[in-house]
Amino acid sequence: METNSSQSAGNAVARCDVLVIGGGPAGSTAAALLAQRGKQVVLLEKAHHPRFHIGESLLPLNMPLFDKLGITQQISAIGMPKYGAQFVSPYHNKEVSVEFADALDKSLPYSYQVRRSEFDHVLIKNAAAKGAQVFEGHRVTHVELNVNGADGALVTAQDEQGQIKQWRARFLADASGRDTFLANKFDLKTKNPKHNSAALFGHFEGATRLPGKAEGNITIFWFDHGWFWFIPLQDDTTSVGAVCWPYYMKSRKTTPTQFLLDTIALCPGVAERLKHATLVGEATATGNYSYQAKRMVGEGYLLLGDAYAFIDPVFSTGVFLAMNSAFLGAETIATCLDQPQRAAQALQHFDTTIRNGLKTFSWFIYRVTTPTLRDLFMAPRNVFRVKEALLSLLAGDVFRDTPIRFRISFFKGVYYLNSLTHLKRSLAASRRRKLIIRDPRGDIAAG
Ligand code: FAD
Repeated sequence: METNSSQSAGNAVARCDVLVIGGGPAGSTAAALLAQRGKQVVLLEKAHHPRFHIGESLLPLNMPLFDKLGITQQISAIGMPKYGAQFVSPYHNKEVSVEFADALDKSLPYSYQVRRSEFDHVLIKNAAAKGAQVFEGHRVTHVELNVNGADGALVTAQDEQGQIKQWRARFLADASGRDTFLANKFDLKTKNPKHNSAALFGHFEGATRLPGKAEGNITIFWFDHGWFWFIPLQDDTTSVGAVCWPYYMKSRKTTPTQFLLDTIALCPGVAERLKHATLVGEATATGNYSYQAKRMVGEGYLLLGDAYAFIDPVFSTGVFLAMNSAFLGAETIATCLDQPQRAAQALQHFDTTIRNGLKTFSWFIYRVTTPTLRDLFMAPRNVFRVKEALLSLLAGDVFRDTPIRFRISFFKGVYYLNSLTHLKRSLAASRRRKLIIRDPRGDIAAG
């Protein structure tokens, strides 16, 4: 798609207010919002939509963002309604289901499961419709930041015919996802020292789903080497993936497809749901993948979504975090461009807000495979409305003023108390976790 031909051929350098690298949820959202504010926006995407991407389960707090972008109807047309989540633990021999309608804010009772090829296509088309110049099949290859001059960043991209094109942008937004364009360029990327896992996934037809309204709910199955997701899409396709410790992924001697099938056989709950299902195409394996950049803002640039950090997908937070960072990022960029005297303050606010949100989810992610957290999840209690607050967190409600903070702190207190009560078990689990994370064999190659 080339929505605007103002980029001239040859060596001429075109100008824009904001250049966005990457047309995933973060980049397309930021581009749409900035274009809507009247900024001249160029979005460069190396692929062509619709294209496959993993990350299909959305959160209720995505819904107000769709409203603000004006795409709610389009998302509802491609989405499978998701009213809650089910947790299945072989260690407790039971299943627990929760509904977002029971969160502190009852006004956002559902979200959607989506095929990312369709979802990301809606978002990038929306960016173009709002006035951004969208260039697909354009890979950004070089960036020169002009920090002291008033000229902004010089961005070089190559199209599929090998033609080199350049833009001079007053502000640069890196939304390049796990390619982490700027974090690589500035050597900012750090492996998360507290978490280490990898994933194997595929699409199945004919899986057994939950009955009635719960049909579209996500199910999380724990098993000895990590956990599984079960995400029903709008048609008969269900996305199934295993997020495993690296030592287990390292043990793979077969193709990713065979390894996924073998891994499913280790988790009776998933195997039962897939008894009559068939894998569509091949399975995919991703390598070791939690990271964070040391910096997310600088003079004339910022990092959005996965371009800054990636956390384990157990709570389906990735797309919401990417879009939320784009909303706040677009506001920050507009302030930097329109009121340069307030730029430092706006960038600092962006940085602090994004870090706090990530920290809130990370505390739970680091502990989700511990026996204590599993015990608490499998026997939820609403003392001081703690269960409602946890549901708010699972809905993505960590950036608003919904009163979850005190209740989440209370829950953490209960967690630590329980850990102390079962000290021997907790220490053993913590030792195992540390060993697994430090495992030098963790840096496996993706299949
Ligand atoms: P992306 O969606 O990755 O978009 C980045 C875009 O930039 C891509 O289109 C890419 O082609 C483009 N790009 C990259 N480099 C360049 C370049 N040099 N020039 C031009 N374009 C470039 N999230 C959820 O919300 N729910 C889930 O259930 C979920 N499950 C997941 C399971 C797994 C195994 C993994 C790995 C992730 C999962 N996620 C999930 C996370 C989710 O996929 C990401 O957090 C989300 O896609 C981030 O959006 P983004 O816009 O930051 O990056």
